[in-house]
Amino acid sequence: MADSTTSVDTKALLESLPTGLFIGGEWRDASSGETFDVQNPATGEVLATLQSANSDDALAALDAAVKVQTDWARTPARQRSEILARAYQLVTERTEEFAALMTLEMGKPLAEARGEVKYGAEYLRWFSEETVRQYGNSQEVPEGGIRMVTRRKPVGPCLLITPWNFPLAMATRKFAPAIAAGCTMVLKPAELTPLTTQYFVQTMIEAGVPEGVLNVVCGTDPAAISEPLIDDPRLRKVSFTGSTAVGKILMKQAADGVLRTSMELGGNAPFIVFADADIDQAVAGAMAAKMRNIGEACTAANRFLVHKDVADEFTDKLVAAMEKLTVGNGMDDGVDVGPLIEEKARQNIAGLIEDAKKNGATVLTGGGAIDGDGFFFQPTVLRGASTDSRIFQEEIFGPVASIYEFTDEDEAIDLANSTPYGLASYIFSENSDRMWRLADGLEFGIVGFNAGVVSNAAVPFGGVKQSGQGREGGAEGLDEYTEVQYIGVRDPYANK
Ligand code: NAD
Repeated sequence: MADSTTSVDTKALLESLPTGLFIGGEWRDASSGETFDVQNPATGEVLATLQSANSDDALAALDAAVKVQTDWARTPARQRSEILARAYQLVTERTEEFAALMTLEMGKPLAEARGEVKYGAEYLRWFSEETVRQYGNSQEVPEGGIRMVTRRKPVGPCLLITPWNFPLAMATRKFAPAIAAGCTMVLKPAELTPLTTQYFVQTMIEAGVPEGVLNVVCGTDPAAISEPLIDDPRLRKVSFTGSTAVGKILMKQAADGVLRTSMELGGNAPFIVFADADIDQAVAGAMAAKMRNIGEACTAANRFLVHKDVADEFTDKLVAAMEKLTVGNGMDDGVDVGPLIEEKARQNIAGLIEDAKKNGATVLTGGGAIDGDGFFFQPTVLRGASTDSRIFQEEIFGPVASIYEFTDEDEAIDLANSTPYGLASYIFSENSDRMWRLADGLEFGIVGFNAGVVSNAAVPFGGVKQSGQGREGGAEGLDEYTEVQYIGVRDPYANK
């Protein structure tokens, strides 16, 4: 079956995917014998049925990772770098296959899925390059007597937990630095979108990842997988991307073993438009920051804070741009907005809009679910909700833009910061002094200035406050998987 917009035979690709767990270099059935279905959110169709891992399987995966950790840490950096370079090459060559799988299991339009393959593959290339640039330091201590050397060592076996919204990129953002550092890993993809990971594993075997270095377990009870691993002293790190609620649970569990953690959690991004902004550029940025990935991105613009003098113009142009979008199955030609991931997400967004209406909002376009198969929702613009409304306070995670007004810079900063989250923020203004003042005032890990999309493998991506801790990508992304060891050596000329 060839789809209109892809050359990939999706039926054959789905049938070729392994359905088991990947442990110690081989595909295995889950010990429970239980399975779960993976659905297409655009049609409700079952795409595949996979084995569901339990605690025993998770521990078997950790056993496999622990068994090869010492040898893997000793491999020359060049060898690990070349594995990542081959991984980059293979993923790039298979862009169409990865993109088709992501569109099928997650819903994003094919063009965006191809964009994710490029973005996700870049982490493989970036960390391939970083693998051979892991520097230490050497100096004499100021008082003399000791010469010191610092070096980087892999933290050890890692548990990597990924969400459903970027099935490939969230995995490569963790896998690549772990490989670069010399860590082995148990990867647990989201149960809503595990197929991309199954294909990724097949590809990584071909790239030369040795057995035991990458182990993958997925199941319907994620806590049954993560808990025994986090409790196990052989595990040295958990890296999690997902909701703040689950991140907090994992951090509490990790505290017992004082485990290293990296947490990439939820966001509530302000998108601030000043009166001196180029409004057309701001609207283009707003569409990218809001509608990328159907609005299901942690960096998605969640609160449009617009100066009162340009609020009407910005609103009219945003509504017009939203009304041009085509909603539909991401496999079809010309589709801009795919379905939401599941019915629960659709109901949550409908609830946010109802609450906003009770708190002063007017719906200017869209406003509801679209009847029929699949979890489709209309691109929506609201204006006038109060800051008490849930839509101001919570992550929307869907194609809904809510516009608020401000009168001066201080008010914009206060409004932007009035959230427990601190991941992405966006500023649109033609005044570069303002950019620096805003960057000083904003409590966010990422600031986009006249730019609606700022993610890149070369930059340190991550949040402050309840959006998490640690950074992924950039040189900092590798630090998350290494420990600094200091060696103090007696100076041969000291104390003679
Ligand atoms: P989620 O927290 O429900 O799930 C994320 C992962 O955690 C999945 O693999 C899931 O199976 C697993 N999980 C769920 N409950 C668990 C538990 N009790 N113990 C262990 N694991 C558990 O989040 P989601 O709905 O998949 O993803 C959306 C969220 O992810 C949003 O809040 C979004 O902002 C966030 N996100 C953050 C970033 C970032 O880089 N900061 C990137 C993408 C998504």
